[in-house]
Amino acid sequence: MKHEYPFIVIEGGDGAGKTTLARAVAAALKDRGVTYVDRRQVSTTAPYATRLMEHLSQMLWHCGDSPDLPDTFWAHLQAAWFIAHGEHVVSPAAQSGPVIVDGWYYKLTSKLLGQGWSSTEIDQHFSRVPEPDHVIVLRVDPEQSWDRASNRLRPSELGMHGEFAELGKVSFLAYQQAGLDALTIMAGQRGWTILDVPGDERSEDTARRLAAEVEKLLDQSDSGHPQVPAYSWPHVDASLRTAVDRQVRRSLSDRDARGVTGEFETAFTQFVGAPWAVSFSSGTAALHAMCVAAGLGPGDEVIAPAYTFFATASPFAYEGVNLVFADADALGNLDPASLPGLVTPRTKAVIVTHMWGNPCDMTAVAAQCAKLGLMLLEDCSHAHFASWRGQRVGTFGDMAAFSTNQKAVTTGTGGVLVGRTDRHRELALLHGHYNKRCFQEIPGSRPYAPYALTGMGLSSRISTIGAAIGLDQLGKADRIETRRRAVMDAYTHALAGNPVVSPVIVDPDLGRHGLYVMGLRFHPEAATVTVGDFVDRLTAAGTDFDLPGSTTVIADEPLFHRTSRDEGWDTPHTTGPGVFPGAQAFIDNFIKTPLWGYPGDETAVEEHLATLRDVSLQVSR
Ligand SMILES: *Cc1c(COP(=O)(O)O)cnc(C)c1O
Repeated sequence: MKHEYPFIVIEGGDGAGKTTLARAVAAALKDRGVTYVDRRQVSTTAPYATRLMEHLSQMLWHCGDSPDLPDTFWAHLQAAWFIAHGEHVVSPAAQSGPVIVDGWYYKLTSKLLGQGWSSTEIDQHFSRVPEPDHVIVLRVDPEQSWDRASNRLRPSELGMHGEFAELGKVSFLAYQQAGLDALTIMAGQRGWTILDVPGDERSEDTARRLAAEVEKLLDQSDSGHPQVPAYSWPHVDASLRTAVDRQVRRSLSDRDARGVTGEFETAFTQFVGAPWAVSFSSGTAALHAMCVAAGLGPGDEVIAPAYTFFATASPFAYEGVNLVFADADALGNLDPASLPGLVTPRTKAVIVTHMWGNPCDMTAVAAQCAKLGLMLLEDCSHAHFASWRGQRVGTFGDMAAFSTNQKAVTTGTGGVLVGRTDRHRELALLHGHYNKRCFQEIPGSRPYAPYALTGMGLSSRISTIGAAIGLDQLGKADRIETRRRAVMDAYTHALAGNPVVSPVIVDPDLGRHGLYVMGLRFHPEAATVTVGDFVDRLTAAGTDFDLPGSTTVIADEPLFHRTSRDEGWDTPHTTGPGVFPGAQAFIDNFIKTPLWGYPGDETAVEEHLATLRDVSLQVSR
């Protein structure tokens, strides 16, 4: 729907006070040209539409959805209503000022979910209804709305058929709570505002707070920055929902790899080009399995990046391995030149992280490991799509772990370990997949086969739903990659000649970026503000740029200096601050921003590029 001014919806359960509040807010913001439009209002411009909408309105808003006719019939009428209302009432009103409406079709979502519809069906069903620019959800305890709603309760409420058939307070509360839960989830996914309304708040005060929220939205659209959609990943589209729906019916819990877990792992081996893949409950769990399968423990040393997400190293510390930290190069990756100076007779392995998606110099790292006789391990959590000199990362070393938490390819939460040798694979299974799967997949001739029943004491399998999501993601990996590379290229193109910021991307003659996030380098010498101020200006415009906080130099964390697992909590750690000038120089001016990567992300990407250009111009020396 094309209109000049924002279209804002106040959404919430029955008896939440949507109409009263929407009217009050419009009255309070009259000076800003805000008009209240009744969700039940019929067309005032087209006579035939008016007549038709009058009849529809009578049925939908005054009689309710009788169970005499199927749910689909009522859902179709509701969709028809909101299409007509959007075209004939909201759109004309929004040509002259911001419009505020007391509820849209979203509350129906919970009714229909209660009737057994899937969210895919609901989305498809209402796909032609105009979407508002913003939604504010009033979160009111259903107990509070019962008093107001009870006298209007109709036995013909769609949401109260079936499951909530017994009409009364109990069914009302259950049905309203389900609606509120559905709205809260949608708010999270779509970047809507949630306004919690305490039971004892006076209506005037709620109206005042609501008006302030609406004003904020109007300020954003006035400043020429339309509400930038919030980045969320993965993109929850119809295929993902179908994959989950199907898996729910197929199996919620598997104890071996004959179902979706095996299918996901097979797809992952093909994706990376590794001989085997074993999935886990998280990337951290996959790294833990890697440590154990590699046979590393107390008395051993592993060289790890001083600059990485801490879970690259923390499972090794858990197993009693002593971590020795290496400084970073210009891309924030482990500097291979530092390796010889860090090796001791106890050093067994090197683990690298391809930071933010840029592959490490694997030629140099692999050469050093070969020369020094060390195992080579990779943390590829940022680097699902990365390669180095044409070879996919994750295939250079003995084993590699991929977090599939909210990374470029995701399983919701989860992780995958890949590797080469059968021994490593089987030990990884013993670590996290005991009993049935170990019996099926570990040959009886192995010395560790007697442990198949119990494993080694832990269980850390991926969930079947996670594996199903991962399989769906791998099915569209090509599209995710194409789209994310295009966004990255757009940044590179837009930043050409910008003295204030430049992209942090591996030399394309050497490697391909892994597409986790877009990294940017801020050049303080070219700017009149600090990097912190620069990022504040960017985010003030509603964009998603940030200075990564929890990913920093990890070498001083007390976990890495405990001498054993049973050491007391009050033992002081006498380590001085480590000196990692390379890492610090990288961190000081590093900014990250999402790479998006799905249909419909164009506005967000354009908004980010435009904001980056504008703010760079403002602060350029
Ligand atoms: C995300 C991440 C992990 C941890 O993975 P989880 O799935 O969150 O446990 C480990 N290493 C790196 C580099 C990561 O980004």
